[in-house]
Parts: sequence; C-alpha cells; structure tokens
Amino acid sequence: MNKIVQLPDELSNKIAAGEVVERPSSVVKELIENSIDAGSSWIKIELDEAGLRLIRVTDDGEGMTAEDTEKAFFRHATSKIQNEQQLFRVKTLGFRGEALASIASVSHLTIRTSTGDQSGTEMRIHGGEIIEKQKHTKRRGTEITVENLFYNTPARLKYLKTVHTEIGHIMDLVNRMALAHDEIRFECHHNGKRIFFSPGNKKLLQVIQQIYGKNVAQQMLSLEEESLDYTIRGYVAKPEVTRSNRSYMTLIVNGRYIKNYTINKAILEGYHTLLPIGRFPVVVLKIDMDPYLIDVNVHPAKTEVRFSKEKELFDVVKQAVYNLMHAQRLIPDVSKKE
Ligand code: ADP
Ligand code: MG
Repeated sequence: MNKIVQLPDELSNKIAAGEVVERPSSVVKELIENSIDAGSSWIKIELDEAGLRLIRVTDDGEGMTAEDTEKAFFRHATSKIQNEQQLFRVKTLGFRGEALASIASVSHLTIRTSTGDQSGTEMRIHGGEIIEKQKHTKRRGTEITVENLFYNTPARLKYLKTVHTEIGHIMDLVNRMALAHDEIRFECHHNGKRIFFSPGNKKLLQVIQQIYGKNVAQQMLSLEEESLDYTIRGYVAKPEVTRSNRSYMTLIVNGRYIKNYTINKAILEGYHTLLPIGRFPVVVLKIDMDPYLIDVNVHPAKTEVRFSKEKELFDVVKQAVYNLMHAQRLIPDVSKKE
C-alpha cells in the first residue's frame, strides 16, 4: 500500500514557519527587511506587549499591485530573484519568498499596500487563509499588521519568554537595522510610547549616539579602508571604551547585519594588545563586496553567511584596525606588521 502524501500548502507553510519565525523579533526582522528591499526611506515599527499582541510595520516603499499582494503570500513567491544565476548575486536582503507565507500561517495578518499609482489593496489572512480582500486608498507604501502570533501553534506560544525578554530581542534587532541603514529613518513604538528613533540622514555616528549614548559616540574613531575586493568603513572605539561581551560589535556586509567569528577575530587582533583580556570594543563595521564573494543562502533566518575569500578578508580587516590604532599613536612604531 502506498503511504506517501504531498502535504497541503497550509501545513507545509506552518512547518516552514517553524524555521523562519522563532519569536516576535523574527517577524519584525522579516518585515523590516522587506521594507528595506522595497526602497523605503522611512520605516515605523509599532508593538503591543513586545509584539506578542501586535506587530505593525509601515513603510513608504514601492508597495504592491493587487495581484502581487496575493502572490506575496504564496510560498517561494518572490520578486527578488528569477533564476539560479541571480541566487549567487543576491543584492536584496530577501530572496527565498518564504517570510510572508510563514508569518501569515501562524497569525492574524492584515496588509494594506499601494504602489501609489493605482488604488491600494487591503487583505486579511487568518492562519494562512485569505478571509477578506478589498480596495483601499492609501499613499504609496505598505503596512503589515501581525496579531495573535502563534495562536495556532500552542507549543511555540508557550516557549516565548516574558515581554521584557522579547522586547530586548526586538530592540537589539531594530538597533542593528538602523546601524546597517543610516539612510533610513526608523521609528519604534512600544505600547504607544516611542522607544527608538534614528534620523535617516546617512550620519552613522548619530545612530551610534542614539543607541550607545554620547560618551561612546565621542570615543569612536572613523575607519575607511579599500582593497581590491572590499570597501570597509565604519567606526571602532578607542581601546579604553570596552565592554564585557561581543554584542557591541556590529558587522554589516552589503547592507545585511551578520554574525561572523572570523571578522570579529580580525578586529580584535587589529587592536593588537590594546584591549584588556576578556574585554571587547564597540564597533560598527560596514563591509561592501561583490555579492559573488558571499553566500547568504546558509539558513533561512540566521545571520550566518559564508565568504569565498575569508583569509583575505581577515587580513584586510585586521590591518585596517591596526593601521587606525597605529595612526592614533596607540600602538608604538616598532614593527609595522606582526
Ligand atoms: P522575499 O523577501 O524573500 O522575496 P517575502 O515572503 O518576505 O519573500 O515577500 C514576498 C514578496 O512580497 C517580496 O518579494 C516582495 O515583492 C513583496 N513584498 C513584501 N513586503 C513588501 C513591502 N513592504 N513592500 C513592497 N513589497 C513587499
Ligand atoms: Mg522577505
């Protein structure tokens, strides 16, 4: 007797959602990334009870047509890549076409979107099922509201931590997004109160000040370095401004916030012996490279990537930080290179 069945879309979306949507901050991440990919200059994030009750992300990006609004919620439906070659040259943050389908399958979702040149669309989806679709007048942009997250996946709901923990995850994410995109004005509101704001004037140091305070911002050194394959810019703190963990080191590659052991290590080695043992600097480093040199298709939700020339990247970053410390006369001029 045959036993194998093809799972219905609703169920496979729910299974995929387990990977993409771990907690409220994962929803916020996916929605912000979509807003960035839509070319927004302003992104507003509203939360009730750390997103456990409500998450709303509004942008002034390109919006969607009525037909695309429906397609956007199909699994593997994306406007960002069309073929295999493009997968290896991804310039957008998204490309899997999984996020909206996943989020909609485990929540009550409402989207209002407009391209600005035709009437907009409003659509409601409950647990992956479209329950209402109508015309909507709205200016260009998109607003997505996610309520009752995980209402139909009780185990996941139970696993969520306190409002305090969840808002911590969300704030960390919003901070990194604002650092990664200083050209975008971010606003974040929690339970009706504005808790974060970035000016969107392309002044990274101002965003650093918003997040880490004036004292830290005043102690940051500007770093700029160019090699054949990499353009590196950002700010690294003077060695006296240290923290007890690595979470104050933000790495952004091609506009994407990532975590990477090798680059962190390169930065730390660049400080030479200036950092006390067990202490870590405040760093915001933006590295731009040909997308061909980086594989972002490692995990649907994680901030992991792979570099094809990792050793070269390590050397460039380490030398850049070293040179900067040296130029500050923080490292004595004995042997230029180790
Ligand atoms: P991906 O981002 O990987 O393409 P998503 O499921 O996140 O997949 O989104 C599906 C599609 O919906 C996107 O490719 C994009 O065309 C459209 N979309 C989603 N969010 C927005 C938005 N805020 N503004 C405009 N288009 C959007
Ligand atoms: Mg996306």
